[in-house]
Amino acid sequence: MRIYDDIQLDYCDVLLRPKRSALASRSEVEVLREYTFKWCSKPLTATGIVAANMATTGTFEIAREMQKQHLMSALHKHYSAEDLLAFLKQNAEEFGSNDLLFVSSGVSDADYEKLKTVMQSGLVRNICVDVANGYSPYLINYIRKVRKEWPEALIMAGNVVTGDMCEDLILSGADIVKVGIGPGSVCTTRKLTGVGRPQFSTVIECADAAHGVGGMVCADGGCTVPGDVCKSFCAGADFVMLGGLLAGHAESGGELCSKSFQTGEVEMIDDKTCAMRIVEKQYKKFYGMSSEYAQDKHYGGMKKYRASEGKVVEIPFRGPVEATLLAILGGIRSCMTYIGAKRLKDMPKCATFYRVNRQLNTIFGNE
Ligand code: 5GP
Repeated sequence: MRIYDDIQLDYCDVLLRPKRSALASRSEVEVLREYTFKWCSKPLTATGIVAANMATTGTFEIAREMQKQHLMSALHKHYSAEDLLAFLKQNAEEFGSNDLLFVSSGVSDADYEKLKTVMQSGLVRNICVDVANGYSPYLINYIRKVRKEWPEALIMAGNVVTGDMCEDLILSGADIVKVGIGPGSVCTTRKLTGVGRPQFSTVIECADAAHGVGGMVCADGGCTVPGDVCKSFCAGADFVMLGGLLAGHAESGGELCSKSFQTGEVEMIDDKTCAMRIVEKQYKKFYGMSSEYAQDKHYGGMKKYRASEGKVVEIPFRGPVEATLLAILGGIRSCMTYIGAKRLKDMPKCATFYRVNRQLNTIFGNE
């Protein structure tokens, strides 16, 4: 039995060391990056944060808000080809192009046919091929097929957590490899299967391997606060994909519901009567894409041979997503000034990490 003894770290296990820097203010840093790819010949200018292709975050509404901040979106695969085409047409008029959007695809024949319909329109060039287990031979074969059919497409594919597989996927035709198994906020893969790898170490190894063969990585899952997004870029991620951080907003998918709570306070109704104060709070459902809930909602029920690898949570409603996006971008800019990185691309070069036992003081809660 082989056991890897190297310590495997998560974002919460490290903090960035501040450095003396010539940057006087956050306005001196540039979060837009010009990306050039191994296979796709057209460059892309963006801040490499990508909304996850989950039914709750890969929505048209979130995509619109992301693009306003030059951020990207992987549209979820439960939109019909007609819905996607109608949106892409309108979006290209609004934003000048669909360069910040990925259309998502699984690896089945039906997925391919749908992808073909969408790609034939010429409206979009970015494809996100997504399977839970990127070690399956189906993924490599599918990437080869898609690359052959669309040599100019920007292809992101995953998910894997090891350098060797990143190299294989890139050499098979992927420009970007999506990395992360089990770090997600509504993922239960590690609990159910025992498989996974701490995300910070995953990103470091996979970025190194991918860059070595001219590819890139998208760190997918596990960011709980804007600081985790900063750590991910510093670890070498070219793109960072977010689910939970974007969930629960007005533009997110998922049912909105309200619940009433007794606060314990006494409220005077008139001079003589009082009552316990009741407050109503709004919540939005957020669910893993392989949860039983998602299987029921999007695939007409859970297949017997499958087990649920995701869960459902209700998140206190967070209002418009714009404030969250600005907070994340503000965090990145501030991080860049702390470590002396003028450009997003410079973050790994400027970063030094401390390994820590505790990163947050939680005496007044986790907020
Ligand atoms: P988050 O940003 O919420 O921590 O992670 C988002 C990522 O979790 C998604 O992009 C996707 O890779 C992963 N994910 C989403 N739903 C599920 C699920 O049901 N099971 C598992 N294993 N991963 C999921």
